[in-house]
Amino acid sequence: MSKPKKLMVINGRRQLVPIVYHTRTETDKAYNQKRNRENKEYVSFYKTTAWRHTREQVLLRDYSTCVRCGLEGNIVDHIVPSEDDWEDRLNTDNLETLCQRCHNLKTRREWIKKNKGRERAMKIHVVVGYPASGKSTYVARHMTSHDLVYDYDLLTSSLDGSMLNVLNTNDSKANDLTIHKHNIDMNDYVQIIYEMLLRKIKAEKTFNNVWLIMTKPDERLTTLLSSNDVEWLMLDTSKEECISRLHRLHRDTTDSYKIMNDVDRLIDELDLEIKKVKTN
Ligand SMILES: [Zn+2]
Repeated sequence: MSKPKKLMVINGRRQLVPIVYHTRTETDKAYNQKRNRENKEYVSFYKTTAWRHTREQVLLRDYSTCVRCGLEGNIVDHIVPSEDDWEDRLNTDNLETLCQRCHNLKTRREWIKKNKGRERAMKIHVVVGYPASGKSTYVARHMTSHDLVYDYDLLTSSLDGSMLNVLNTNDSKANDLTIHKHNIDMNDYVQIIYEMLLRKIKAEKTFNNVWLIMTKPDERLTTLLSSNDVEWLMLDTSKEECISRLHRLHRDTTDSYKIMNDVDRLIDELDLEIKKVKTN
């Protein structure tokens, strides 16, 4: 019989390894020694006279003041990290004075940028349809653990604070009333977030799925995301069913038929190839 093995992810690949196998850790002595040898040039650079001289020059130029927050600073930092741009390591144009706090923030942002997810075969699902047709429920049932979900109603409720009521009360009727009573001034802010989000998902594909939940289809999406893998979905729930759900949720239905007709008209006008789906 062969020895027992276990499945491990090593360097991003799944491999069967002996059960006693350990991956290399940061504390592994041999590994650290090798890394230090490779980093020797990098470490010794900060001990050179050339660096000390340049550093003093930059501190003088910046009046030992953090260029980001204006407080006293004594860290001379590479704007483009020296590891990424070794040639420019002594160029004062690439150096700035920072305080400890701003330096920590910058380092953290750089770390996040470097360690951010790899490119994925990201699919964008635009879920449109009548109010209370079950859009959020559909997404909740189909999303994976590495998805981005933009839900207009939820984001608004989060920004206007009504989500706080939902999280802090057990009165379900109060929840339903607060969550859909939107503050008109909030719309601009939700819109800004939406537009920034679109710009970013257009530029990078780090999610498995992006879900955009909205009532009326956004015309701009057809051209803006044309290069991406976009799928248009609509919940196959009848108008009558939506109205009765809205009644059960104690929500105002004065404009509901108008909104639903707008949805139909827009889908027609945009000539969208739309897939009808059911919540279940
Ligand atoms: Zn600072």
